[in-house]
Parts: sequence; C-alpha cells; structure tokens
Amino acid sequence: MIKNNYKPSEAKSYVEQVGKDVADQELALRVYTSRIIGQNPDLVMHGGGNTSIKVERKDLFGNTKQVIHVKGSGWDLDTIQAPGLPGLWLDPLRELRNLDKLSDEDMVNVQRANLLDSSAPNPSVETLLHAFLPHKFVDHTHATPFLILANLPNAEEVCKEIFGSRLGVVPYIMPGFALAKKAAEVYDQDPSVEGLMLLGHGHFAFGETAEESYNQIISHTQTVADYFNLKKPTALNVKSSHKSHEVLPVIRGLIAEMIGPNAAMPIIDVRNGPEEMEFLKRADLDSLSERGTASPDHVIRIKGRPLVLRKSIWEQGSSAIKGALKDYENEYKAMFERQAAKAAQPKTILPPDPKTIWMEGVGLLGLGSNFKAASIAGDLVVQNARVRSVGEDAGGFYPISEKDLFDCEYWSLEQAKLGKGKAPAFQGKVVMVTGGSGTIGFETANAFASLGAQCFLIDLNQENLGAALEKLGKGHFGKALDVTDPKAAKEAITSVIETYGGLDILVSNAGSAQSGSMIDMTSSSVRKAFELNFFSHYEFAKEAANLIKLQSRGGQILFNISKQAVNPGKNFGAYGMPKATTFFMMRQLALELGGDGIRVNGVNADRIRSGLLTDNFIAERANARGISEDKYMAGNLLNAEVKASHVAEAFVSLAQAERTTGHVMTVDGGNIEASLR
Ligand code: ZN
Repeated sequence: MIKNNYKPSEAKSYVEQVGKDVADQELALRVYTSRIIGQNPDLVMHGGGNTSIKVERKDLFGNTKQVIHVKGSGWDLDTIQAPGLPGLWLDPLRELRNLDKLSDEDMVNVQRANLLDSSAPNPSVETLLHAFLPHKFVDHTHATPFLILANLPNAEEVCKEIFGSRLGVVPYIMPGFALAKKAAEVYDQDPSVEGLMLLGHGHFAFGETAEESYNQIISHTQTVADYFNLKKPTALNVKSSHKSHEVLPVIRGLIAEMIGPNAAMPIIDVRNGPEEMEFLKRADLDSLSERGTASPDHVIRIKGRPLVLRKSIWEQGSSAIKGALKDYENEYKAMFERQAAKAAQPKTILPPDPKTIWMEGVGLLGLGSNFKAASIAGDLVVQNARVRSVGEDAGGFYPISEKDLFDCEYWSLEQAKLGKGKAPAFQGKVVMVTGGSGTIGFETANAFASLGAQCFLIDLNQENLGAALEKLGKGHFGKALDVTDPKAAKEAITSVIETYGGLDILVSNAGSAQSGSMIDMTSSSVRKAFELNFFSHYEFAKEAANLIKLQSRGGQILFNISKQAVNPGKNFGAYGMPKATTFFMMRQLALELGGDGIRVNGVNADRIRSGLLTDNFIAERANARGISEDKYMAGNLLNAEVKASHVAEAFVSLAQAERTTGHVMTVDGGNIEASLR
C-alpha cells in the first residue's frame, strides 16, 4: 500500500539543479525525498509531518559550522523547495538539551535567533527533536498505518511484536522541548534503533543518506500496513451525487447562526465513497466519535470530535438539526470549562461549531471558512474514519486524552499555524456566474475570486468553461449547461450544493443579442430571445432564491441587464425587450425577496468589447460613422473605453452595498440618453 517512489534519476536531477556547493546539493536531495513523502497522503497530510538534514556551512568568519535545515511553517512537504527548509546553527540548539525546562515561547525565540536567514519562516515546533538526534537525515510522518498502531491500547506491545527492538517507543508528550528531550533519551537507550514510534502521534526514521532514511519510512510503514492488512491507499476525494440537497444549505445556515450574528456560512465538502458510506453504518459510531483525533495536530483543524448526525434527525429538518447542533455546542463548551479550569494560563474559547460531520446516509463532511479549509477537514475526516475503524477492530482506538487534546487545541503555537490577519471580503462566499467563461462573466468571477469567493461557473461550452476554471485556479468549479434548457437552473443549483453545500450570490449574466428590425424579425426568434435574455434569468433567480431561503442568512441576486433595457438601439429590439423585462423583474424580486434578506440588483453596461460586441462588429460600426475604433469605443462622456473589468467592479460593489436593493448601476462611461431619471 505504501509505494517506494525513490528514483535515482529524479534524485540526480534535483542535485543537478543547484550549484557546486556540497551542502546545497545535500539539501536538494532533502527537498526531493521530502516531496515524495509529502505526495503520499497516507504518509503525511496537511502539515502533519516534517523532515530535516544536517550539513556543514561556513559562518561569516569562514569557520565551518554544523547547520540543520528543517521544515518551516507555511510550507507543505509535497511542494516544498529549499527556502521551505530554513537553516539553523545546530550547536546552540543541541546545547538546549542540558536545560530542564524550556517554555514554548522561549523555544520559538531561540530557534528564530539561530536562523541563518533572519527572514526565514518559523522552523517546525518539532525542530529540537530533529536536532537532538545524531543522524544526517531525519524524517517524521503521521502515516495512516502508524496512527492506527500508535493509538492501540497496547501499542508498545504490538510495536515490539512487529519490529522487535528495531523501533524505540516514545510515550505521548505534546510536541515541543519536553518531547524532543524524551525522544532523544529513548534513542540514547538503544542507538541501534532504525526509528521511533511516538505513542498517540506518529513515526520517525533516520539515515545517513536521503534514500536510506526514506527507505526506512516506507518499509516501516508498509510493515505496519501489512500487520493491519491494509491493502489499498486511503481513497480521498471520492464524491458522488447524493440526495441531501435540501439539507446541506440548512446546515450551512444553522452553523453560521451558531457562530454569531454576522458570521459567514461555512463551505461543506462531502466525501461519500463506498468506504465512507460503509463506515457510517457502524454500530459503534457514537462511541468512536467521542474518543479523540487520530493525531494530536488534527484537533487544530477538525476539533476533538465530529458531530454525528443521524438520519432520523436530519430527515426532520431544521429544528431537529438545530437541536443536534445545540447539543454539540453545549458539550464543546462543557469540555472547554472542564479543561480551561485546569490550564496554567487563562484561555479564550474558540467558536463551538463542528468542523466535521458524520452524516448518516449522506457521507463524511468537512467544513471550513473557505474551500481549502473545508477540503482539508474533508481529507482529515476520511483518514480519521479509517484510523478509528481499523484501529477499533484491531484491538481498540484509544488516542490521547481530552486534556492532551485540549492542550493542543488551545496551544498558542498551534493556534499560530491557522493564519492571522483579516479575512478577504468575500472569503468562503459561493458565487455562481452564468455565462462564466464569457468576457464579462469571467472578469466578474475573477473579481469575486480575488476577494476570496469560491466561484461556480455555468457556461454553454465545456471547453471554454475548462479554460476559464483553469485560469481561476484551485477551489473553483463549474458545469456546462445551456441556461435556456428547462432543467438547467435546477441542475446548476444541485451541482453547487454538491460542491460547496450552498450558494451566497447569483450573478445571472448569460445573454446574447440578435439584431434585426422588429418588423423583419420572426416571432419565433423574438420568443427565443426572451428564452435567453429573460426566462433563463427568471429560472436561475427562482432556484437561487429558494436555495438561499433554505440557508436563512440572506443572499444576493445580481443581473446583467443592459442599457438596451432603457435606451433602445436600432435593430436591437429583440434584445432590449427581454432585457427591459429582466430589469422590471429585478425590481419585482427586490420587492418580494427583501423580507428574506435577499438583495436584488443589476448592472446596465454598454459598449463593452466582448462576445456580444466583437472586434469585427466594432470595426464595422466605427467605419460606418467615419471614426476610429478607439474613438468609437470611447464615445461617452468620459471619453474612455469601458472594459469588462469595470462591469465586474460594479457587480462587486453592488454585492458589497449592504443596504442597496432594487438598484441598477450604469457602467457606460456616461451617456445622458441612457441615464435613468
Ligand atoms: Zn508530528
């Protein structure tokens, strides 16, 4: 199950990319094996592991000194580069072993004080453990098989049974100075060991070369996997369709309500492969949920326990789910009171909302303030389910105590990992944009995404959609649909719920103009124009409003209208009439949805270079008027071309105008004939 991915040719190419400096070449090998460890989620996941190397470098005076490079915070092993392994002078760190005690704050400070580059990221909180071991290469993982082993009630005994005296066993201590000292002590008792198992925590291996240390990691982990008969890697990201489309938005809304009056709704990432569904059928679900996390660092991201949501509860709807959340909140607060009373320093309670939900019949849910956080919680809930169930069946899942978990959850150094600073304006807000790969649609999605939103694009063309999503980057999704298809709006809403759990903002943008005089147009082509430029907006708005109502936290609908709605252009009647109707609908919906906190606004844009107004068309128009293309495009009061990005800005500012509804914002550079009176 744990594949050895070391390839001498790849290792060589890492070395060849750096200069002639021996220390840099050794560091390049450290980067390589760190990456192949990080790329296997059954070895490390989301910051749950670290690596180091000891090299010799010269100080400013030309003296050769020992330096340790160890993983820095903010870097993930799978994508790490040399700057992600900051160097520290080793001798002063090793001297610390003589101390009886060292506070976390003093440890962080002395580590920073010994950095070769004062601007480097903070070295790992497990740096001293790496420093106190004598080996050139040290690798540390929270591998799935080791987490099963390390949480057995008789883990030490089983470890001896599997490895004999090849692995030293370190008792559970929270990461930091005391653990580093203890691990070094265990090593010193028998320096012939090939590695260490840390109870309730993970695995260490070491070697004189990158390959040797990596091989030990792989072979130890495979040995443990064989013992537990684990055949396949943990299948992350298995998602399939589910039928809880009415329930997830309700959960989103209730969780935001639980956090506070202005709290944003979480993103929900559902994992519902066959293994997850099988897990949810276990009779001991409640008991397994109460034991604690597979590894102490998990508690930072997913709290000590999941919310177990039984089908009999969630099927009853909102008030029953609210009751289950209230129970969860009360238990979390009680746990906090119990443990905070025993803590040396005063603690402030974190928001009590669950980060994972074991939802019977639906799947394992990861929740987070944005898609990344939700999918990290999703990965961890899947790994935890496997560790807990396999461990329980193999003798028992007995992770660290509630007190030890509390110490990690409320540990100042771990809290620092979560990232500080103000969240972006649209963090975690789900924005659906129809016509999302067109010029205006894409610019609009991009503007929201750059402010932290998760975008879900709808577009007619699969290929264009793929290209647009690629440009937007990770965490954004979409679906190819014809918005005039009677089933399209429903399908789009179902997909957005399956992807994020709900929706905050709809930008109903898709549209297209056909030209021709009213007298010459056929009524069927006028009807067609209404299908696209009015009815599709109507259907999407209806479905979106119904979904937003389920969340009970308000939301927004934004329409791309057009100056045509108020200022007819010759031969554009078939475009202007449905747009005028959409304009009216915007106001009607603002009137009818205001009570639900749903704001409805629109943008009237004009003369934007796009799929509607192509370069050829611009050339033709400019030519007909005997002016240059630039002059034609800048034919407004400001004498400046209006771009799609200006339209995008208007959508974003309407979305931010908290007391504005039933409003249309004109984006045309100024045109008195089209201005609203
Ligand atoms: Zn660790």
